[in-house]
Amino acid sequence: MPVRKRRRTDSFEKIKILSDQERSAEDQNSLQYIACALEDHGLQEPLSSGLEVLPPADQQVQTPPAPVLLSPVSPEPVHNRGDVTTEDDILSRYEIGRMLGKGGFGSVYEGKRLEDDLEVAVKIARKSRNMKYINIPGHPAPLPLEVGLLILANRGPRVQEIIELLDWQDQPDQYIMILERPSPCQDLWDFLNSHGGTLNEDTARYIITQATMAAHICFSRGVFHRDIKLENLLINTETLEVKLIDFGCGDLLQESAYDVFCGTRKYRPPEYLTEGKYHGKPATVWSLGVLLFLLVCGRFPKRRDLQRIDDDVWFEPGLSNECCHLIRSLLQKNPSWRIDLKKIIFHEWFMVLSLRSATNDF
Ligand code: ATP
Ligand code: MG
Repeated sequence: MPVRKRRRTDSFEKIKILSDQERSAEDQNSLQYIACALEDHGLQEPLSSGLEVLPPADQQVQTPPAPVLLSPVSPEPVHNRGDVTTEDDILSRYEIGRMLGKGGFGSVYEGKRLEDDLEVAVKIARKSRNMKYINIPGHPAPLPLEVGLLILANRGPRVQEIIELLDWQDQPDQYIMILERPSPCQDLWDFLNSHGGTLNEDTARYIITQATMAAHICFSRGVFHRDIKLENLLINTETLEVKLIDFGCGDLLQESAYDVFCGTRKYRPPEYLTEGKYHGKPATVWSLGVLLFLLVCGRFPKRRDLQRIDDDVWFEPGLSNECCHLIRSLLQKNPSWRIDLKKIIFHEWFMVLSLRSATNDF
């Protein structure tokens, strides 16, 4: 597959400067389930009170949480952490295994909770100079933004499409997140590669349904993930259940446009280049379009593809008319012509599944 794995290192457009902003199982394959879930979450207003993104630590009037005193943690995988002397260190409660991934600011390791052998993932995120904290209700001290967004995204009824944060700790130079680790799982980039670079439409449909649900639920809980991409979606290779991870580029959802971009260039909405700003939902729809394009075409959309989409003549041999139509709807250059996030799963491409399951029931 001619797709290179992109990490956060090359994903920042600008460092985001935020001013103080107050803002704000039944068969899960079935359209009915999704529709109900959308309804449940769609009526929910984003959390808008009590949320506050704080400026970088060195500009904060408010003191960040008192850090636990520890020796600096090596970014390399450590099996025997002889350098840690305090039992307050969250890492002392886990056995750390091999590295699962490494980005611009974070390294993620396999882990096992010593207490009960639960398999987890341990993300160790180095603090940058511009790191933001967030105040959220129920937490007396400000939290690292990534931690706070993940807590918010998981608030409310548990949803399987969003990774669960089991525990976390803020340390002087880094913060540590203990995350659920589905097993067996791969990120979608590896999954796609191990399937020859493209997926059939049925598999892609199941994945896109879940990714869309994850995005929608995040928004309904006031969170804009902003970096939905292959590497930030985990898939259980047995059940094909998908989970959204990595809220490190996220922000609180705001009604007004964002004017700085944080995320991955290849998934960036075109209006950011033309207008210098973008809104959360249409930008997310664009990234879902790039994701679907990758899954079924095995490559990123090229300029020529995007031009043909704009001319409403784009078509990929081997794909159904419905799939091509959905891709054209997701990748509309003009954000106001782009399909609405809430309407995606009602597109006729998803009806195929619903009709098929209905037929299978007879
Ligand atoms: P940064 O926040 O600096 O961009 P990153 O992008 O490397 O870091 P993540 O996306 O959270 O951070 O994790 C990197 C990789 O680690 C993922 O692409 C995935 O392969 C693996 N990974 C992350 N979280 C988990 C998890 N909970 N379970 C299994 N694997 C995970
Ligand atoms: Mg990532």
